[in-house]
Amino acid sequence: MTELAERLAEVRGSVKDAAAEAARDPGEITMIVVTKFHPADLVRELHDLGVRDFGESRHQEARPKVESLAEISATWHFVGQLQSKKARQVASYVDMIHSLDRSSLVKALDGTQVEVFIEVNLTDDPSRGGASPDAVLELAAQVAELPGLRLRGLMGVAPRDGQARPAFALLRRSSEQLQVVMPDASDLSMGMSGDYREAILEGATHLRIGAAITGNRPTAG
Ligand SMILES: *Cc1c(COP(=O)(O)O)cnc(C)c1O
Repeated sequence: MTELAERLAEVRGSVKDAAAEAARDPGEITMIVVTKFHPADLVRELHDLGVRDFGESRHQEARPKVESLAEISATWHFVGQLQSKKARQVASYVDMIHSLDRSSLVKALDGTQVEVFIEVNLTDDPSRGGASPDAVLELAAQVAELPGLRLRGLMGVAPRDGQARPAFALLRRSSEQLQVVMPDASDLSMGMSGDYREAILEGATHLRIGAAITGNRPTAG
């Protein structure tokens, strides 16, 4: 087994264990492998190991990578901060955008076909990505007006230093409020390499796992 295959197997096992701990069906949890900064060949290796969901976070890197991998069948997720002027292009080559966090982005996506998560800021720092929890229902209503967009649910990143579990609990409560008006928008994109167990215990349906599977990222250019 390669080291990559070993790490993947280990994370898959831990996801199963956490699902069992939460009395959840692991089949309802999608594990996205975040391949940012890694070459297309790593995506091919992961695909050979059965991975079908991949995450990228920078448009200038993601577009050529996705295009060079046209021969593999995969679901592509855009998880990084998104500039409004790049949004339409990103929507043309990914299946899901996890970082919709303001109405200018919703407007920029008018006329595109893409599934979206509203990203919620789970920290006290307004400079971090994500809408304030108070803004979720308003943004969701704007998304619902565009026929090409399908709202899957909410996405969040736990604070760097704080505890992940209470942050994920906050996102879960926001999700429950959203589902009162939009019962289909029930997905929860939360949990990264260091905190996916906590995310699964709080109901995550989409994990975004990078380094725990890929190994350390080559340093950003
Ligand atoms: C990079 C990234 C991840 C993966 O992070 P790891 O700590 O490597 O698992 C998940 N979500 C977002 C938004 C990211 O930018």
